[in-house]
Amino acid sequence: MEYEEVKALRERWGGKPCDHPDFTDEILFGSKTGDFVCTQCGESFTKRQRDQLNRKGANPKLGQLTERNQMLKERIDILAGRKDKLDALANAANGHSELDATLLEQLCLIKLMDELIKSTD
Ligand SMILES: [Zn+2]
Repeated sequence: MEYEEVKALRERWGGKPCDHPDFTDEILFGSKTGDFVCTQCGESFTKRQRDQLNRKGANPKLGQLTERNQMLKERIDILAGRKDKLDALANAANGHSELDATLLEQLCLIKLMDELIKSTD
């Protein structure tokens, strides 16, 4: 990433905390500097710092995946305990937009997770 781009990214990000999910080569006047830039916040890191960050969180994406899987589980459990109330929604005359949308999104999520399972077989 060229310096101008890095600068713009930093300004857009505005100094918020960042878990530095991904890095790219830092480029100055068309040449790699050997350092790396977080593609989310624009902060600059040496190769060693980047390697340490990658190791520390294994990969932040995996942490996110685990966290969100847990969020899904909690919600699935809550809904499982509300069968009666859901029954009323499902029988509503004009349908129920959240229920219908959830049914659709569930299909997408199941398909994506199946892909993920297949690629980790
Ligand atoms: Zn960052």
